[in-house]
Amino acid sequence: MLNLVKSLINSRIITEDSTSWGEGFGRGLPIIHQESCLADCPKCENTCPTGALKNKVINPRGCIFCHSCLRSCPVNAITETEIPVISSSVSTEQLGQELRSKLKKDCRRSLHIRYVDAGSCNGCDFEINSVTNPVYDIQQYGIDFVASPRHADMLLVTGSVTRNLEIALQKTYEACPKPTLVVAVGACACGGGIFKEAYAAGGGVGKHLPVDVYVPGCPPTPALIIKGILAAIDRG
Ligand code: SF4
Ligand code: SF4
Repeated sequence: MLNLVKSLINSRIITEDSTSWGEGFGRGLPIIHQESCLADCPKCENTCPTGALKNKVINPRGCIFCHSCLRSCPVNAITETEIPVISSSVSTEQLGQELRSKLKKDCRRSLHIRYVDAGSCNGCDFEINSVTNPVYDIQQYGIDFVASPRHADMLLVTGSVTRNLEIALQKTYEACPKPTLVVAVGACACGGGIFKEAYAAGGGVGKHLPVDVYVPGCPPTPALIIKGILAAIDRG
């Protein structure tokens, strides 16, 4: 437990190391069972499209939950984490209540977010849009999405930061009043994701801005995005 807390403090990554970080995904994080794994078998590593699986270790920030590694293993040495799905109205309500009390305590009842698409495929953007739909409705708890970075307490960034958007993202960050919280949403924003090796991809938000929270997934669910926002408020 102590090691986990130390790693959270040092890595600035909230969602990656949490034992419940698979919550809200349709699939769990792959787990490699080293005791069953064949020495010198390269199949899972070769099949991983993002390079998240290296030397028989999976980096959750790069994983897109495709489960190619599970299917490629000849001895079934890879399984997935259990997924407590956040879909019931009770869980959504609980998230809302947590948001309400944190905003009241730490943010003078409101939080303003500037959302920036820094070259995503729009999958993550659809999920961000969903946090304001009637199911999640985070605006009722005091969160608002603002048009100007000058009014923002937090930047929510999707995409790997493509070359064309690098300067725009930097200028948006500079225009925010400091301190600014930065939340990277989705595998691309966390480390490049599926576009990691592409010539115009920027390798993720962490290479360009100081990130407070990484929310993995391709794309992450609205519930997980809300959890990322909550985690960022804790760090603010
Ligand atoms: S990206 Fe796909 S192949 Fe790579 S570790 Fe994740 S689930 Fe496995
Ligand atoms: S993480 Fe997945 S859904 Fe999000 S922008 Fe990248 S490819 Fe699209």
